[in-house]
Amino acid sequence: MTKPKPRVIYWFRTDLRLHDSPALKAALDLEPECLYPIWTWDPHYVYRARVGPNRWQFLLDCQSDLSASITKLNKKSKLFVIRESPTTLFPKLFKAWNISHLVFEKDTDAYARDRDNEVTEIAKKAGVQVITKVGRTLYDPDELVKQNHGKPTMSISQVIKAGEQIGQIPRPIPAPASLPDPGDTSLNFKQDHPSSEPDINAPQRNSSDQSYAHLAGPQGDFSVPTYDELGLKPSTTPHHGGETAALAALDKIISNTKYTATFEKPSTAPTAFEPQSTTLLSPHLHFGSLSCREFYWRAQDVVDNFKQGTASHPPTSLTGQLLFRDMYFGAQAALGHKFGQAYGNPSCRSVPWHLPSKVNEDTGLVVRDGGGGGGVEYSIDSSTAETWFQRWKYGCTGFPWIDALMRQLRQEGWIHHLGRHAVACFLTRGGCYVDWERGAAVFEEWLIDHEPACNIGNWQWLSCTAFYAQFYRCYSPISFPQKWDKDGAFVRKYVPELANFPAKYIYEPWKAPIADQKAAGCLIKSIDEEGEDGELDLSPWKKEIVAEKHEANGAQNGDEKKEKESMNIYPKPMFDFPSRRTTCINALKNAYRVGLYGNDQKVLDGTWRDLFPDEAEGPTSTADVEAMHDADAHGEFVHDAEGHEGLHEKDHSPVGRKRKEHGQGTLDGHVKRTKT
Ligand SMILES: Cc1cc2nc3c(=O)[nH]c(=O)nc-3n(C[C@H](O)[C@H](O)[C@H](O)COP(=O)(O)OP(=O)(O)OC[C@H]3O[C@@H](n4cnc5c(N)ncnc54)[C@H](O)[C@@H]3O)c2cc1C
Repeated sequence: MTKPKPRVIYWFRTDLRLHDSPALKAALDLEPECLYPIWTWDPHYVYRARVGPNRWQFLLDCQSDLSASITKLNKKSKLFVIRESPTTLFPKLFKAWNISHLVFEKDTDAYARDRDNEVTEIAKKAGVQVITKVGRTLYDPDELVKQNHGKPTMSISQVIKAGEQIGQIPRPIPAPASLPDPGDTSLNFKQDHPSSEPDINAPQRNSSDQSYAHLAGPQGDFSVPTYDELGLKPSTTPHHGGETAALAALDKIISNTKYTATFEKPSTAPTAFEPQSTTLLSPHLHFGSLSCREFYWRAQDVVDNFKQGTASHPPTSLTGQLLFRDMYFGAQAALGHKFGQAYGNPSCRSVPWHLPSKVNEDTGLVVRDGGGGGGVEYSIDSSTAETWFQRWKYGCTGFPWIDALMRQLRQEGWIHHLGRHAVACFLTRGGCYVDWERGAAVFEEWLIDHEPACNIGNWQWLSCTAFYAQFYRCYSPISFPQKWDKDGAFVRKYVPELANFPAKYIYEPWKAPIADQKAAGCLIKSIDEEGEDGELDLSPWKKEIVAEKHEANGAQNGDEKKEKESMNIYPKPMFDFPSRRTTCINALKNAYRVGLYGNDQKVLDGTWRDLFPDEAEGPTSTADVEAMHDADAHGEFVHDAEGHEGLHEKDHSPVGRKRKEHGQGTLDGHVKRTKT
């Protein structure tokens, strides 16, 4: 008797492409009788991971494009989107479609690993063979860890060294020329509805969520969900997803051989827009609409053949950027869920930031069901820090450079790497002294390229809690952008209130004389951040505009009224940056001196905060910090923008746990402390 041919489900996840897909190739190599390309609408991402409308839009773009490409290869086929959790769906689907093999790309994200292990067990029980292949990263993250002596990859040189042991990065493989038929697609089983509670994405919707109303979608045709079905607020990003767009963007970049061969990350302007100065391929790499190996080899081939000058090399080159990506995947693969938090994380320094995450004592994991800025997943130990955090998030800090970046992030879902440096440094160790986990959560919600490993790793880098240790080097929100954009075109675009401000004051509008403010049509005012009921108004600058115009309409006449009506309002800076920077540097110095990591017993049992009598910030000795700070007078560290690695631990080893002497006050006169 001849063996029956395989009946295969190909499970698409973060590999929404046909080109260079080792897993898809493995599925086709089985020479299946039928191949079902499916997507399971996983409730984890619908309700439990923070995803804003822009990233949803990018995903839907990728799915629609992929589905059309599949149909081009086989008219009977498409991306079959099934609205159910993979763990409840697969046992039924295996039976209904008489499946022999399940094939998917390996995913080492902490949640994905748990899910895939569960699905693999389900498949085993059903007698279905599971095949997985690496394709999301240049190297298999688990192999990187293995070759790095079982340790998380914390520097680019560790990645390069481990990579040498693994062998050459495989060349990309072409897209298939044809696809098998899908077979019968009837779903003769009942849909299991997932629980929507807790739903941290409720604030992303403006109508009812119909994600799970029909197993195969409203028309029963497995189509890619519409915005209506998901009930989402409109997306505002100008960036579009899909393999077709990704490959076209890559072609354009690679055709500029000089740009590709000489790319130096630290020399790319964070203030450039339309076009931006880097590739903007990150969301495509995240969703897999572009293969990282395709990107790597096409860039490397240009470098190898470049004769018109000196080509750049890792870590600053384009291929170097992809190695950084692998570095964070390697760190995450080694540490799992603990990588995403300070608590319990052996690689992450413990710093007593404001607004610390709450931890679930049973699981040892941070609580993630806050949602909507409601604050239940973190402790508000300081009402001032909470206000600063909200003003940072919504782009009304009064520092135009920071506000422009945060508004670009919210509207468009992408900002330049050095822009991310600037806002992350400002929120954590270079301004607000707020926990990096708060910032990472905002990025998770708003980035279209949100990649758990890269987001977490970079936040740790910027907060000097892991990967990087030069905490005395901070980005100034004034001198740093001035270096790139003297006239402030970037600020004028994203903070339109300031569009007509003189260049001289564009990064420090509060210094402009009132006559200049009036001439520019924008008054710089201090904001009362709290309403009468004590509730924080998330858009205080808007409130001011309304109040000002109301006053103009109701209480004034003639020229004065006209002038007021046409005035914009922009906030005064929420703190004095130089003094906050000094406070933060001192606080970091203190935390480094205490020298605890997330898995230290004192951290685990909560007694570590007693080592910091002022609860958070607080000086040790300021003199030597001032000296370091003066040496870095421009408050910027462009060359550290992945231009070289952070200090090795031995360069900054803790010098012992020295308790701060009693009676030392805090420098942080701005912070009002409240007990939670
Ligand atoms: C606080 C913070 C959070 C970040 N969060 C994310 C995130 O969620 N997802 C994400 O992909 N990147 C993240 N990054 C890294 C980096 O900023 C983006 O990858 C990059 O800006 C994307 O733009 P690009 O595609 O034009 O990059 P390019 O400069 O053109 O680089 C090419 C590719 O290399 C990779 N890459 C470049 N720099 C890094 C880096 N430092 N770390 C990891 N990969 C890198 C990206 O995949 C990128 O598409 C973060 C950086 C910071 C400072």
